[in-house]
Amino acid sequence: PNPLKRKLDTLPENSVHGTSDSGVQVIVRMRPPRKDKDEGEMLVQKTSSDSLSINGQTFTFDSVADTDASQLDIFQLVGVPLVENCMAGFNSSVFAYGQTGSGKTYTMWGPANALLDENLSSDQQGLTPRVLERLFARINEEQMKHADKQLKYQCQCSFLEIYNEQITDLLDPNQKSLQIREDVKSALIKGLSNRRTGSTSINAESSRSHTVFTCVVESRYKSVADGISSFKSSRINLVDLAGSERQKLTGAAGERLKEAGNINRSLSQLGNLINILAEISQTGKQRHIPYRDSRLTFLLQESLGGNAKLAMVCAVSPTQSCKSETFSTLRFAQRAKAIKNKAVVNEV
Ligand code: ADP
Repeated sequence: PNPLKRKLDTLPENSVHGTSDSGVQVIVRMRPPRKDKDEGEMLVQKTSSDSLSINGQTFTFDSVADTDASQLDIFQLVGVPLVENCMAGFNSSVFAYGQTGSGKTYTMWGPANALLDENLSSDQQGLTPRVLERLFARINEEQMKHADKQLKYQCQCSFLEIYNEQITDLLDPNQKSLQIREDVKSALIKGLSNRRTGSTSINAESSRSHTVFTCVVESRYKSVADGISSFKSSRINLVDLAGSERQKLTGAAGERLKEAGNINRSLSQLGNLINILAEISQTGKQRHIPYRDSRLTFLLQESLGGNAKLAMVCAVSPTQSCKSETFSTLRFAQRAKAIKNKAVVNEV
């Protein structure tokens, strides 16, 4: 039995506070056109801080990040609030969605050649290393503030990959039972080196798996003088989804075809779930939510329509050559915008 759950179950209702109804924060990020390839004319134009135009059609989100937005800009937009939400006790998640080659991995981790660099301070570093660095800095800051009152934090992490509807623990691919482990930074580097990537005819850097990096933060506060004690627990999920393009475009056969089907299945289940959640948020009508239909949606259950704050970075390639996939990503992003999550501080 989970001791935290037991504690929360026995609480009087009014001792859980900090409830917040919050929509999904949707950011569209355009990557710069590639220098090594002719990708055609620019197709997407940023028209204001939160809108873009494509083929004369305007889409509005929470923010639009242009081709020149830096990794720091994205961190400030998405990462800083994520860490603050987690410190306040809310479960908080970021998903990166988009077609292969649109910049999901760049956004979540950084450029491929910096991923395994133990020095995580470069300008190019993506959201995950920055979020962890900020999280530890904030934890230290809070502990210093409360030194006399015994505020203690504990952080644990897990790093999972979903590939072909199988879950692998990237921290130890040979181990069958999944566990949460400590020592986040070294875990992160080790997990990344175990990540599966395959080459498709669309893009050699294509990633065909979903990865879910989770950090659980627990704090215990005890003041002997005031006779106060509390326990808070919240988690951060950083999710890098597989490419959203229709897999039949890649000319796959055999094992690759089966794999393509499974990637399609979990992403189409995610799309399906988002449609249902958006409908529930808009109409207030209850419906069965099929979380169990894929590994991805089951694992992310809490982040989707559940007890969590959610940000979605939808990555697009801004040029003509990616037109249909870009439209498809923007429509997905619009549907995600309609979801309302209910976040609650887990505090005893
Ligand atoms: P995905 O994970 O969506 O398949 P990547 O993150 O691997 O795509 O990006 C594809 C290529 O474009 C990589 O070489 C990456 O470094 C580059 N790239 C993506 N986004 C940006 C950006 N905002 N600025 C500079 N380079 C980028």
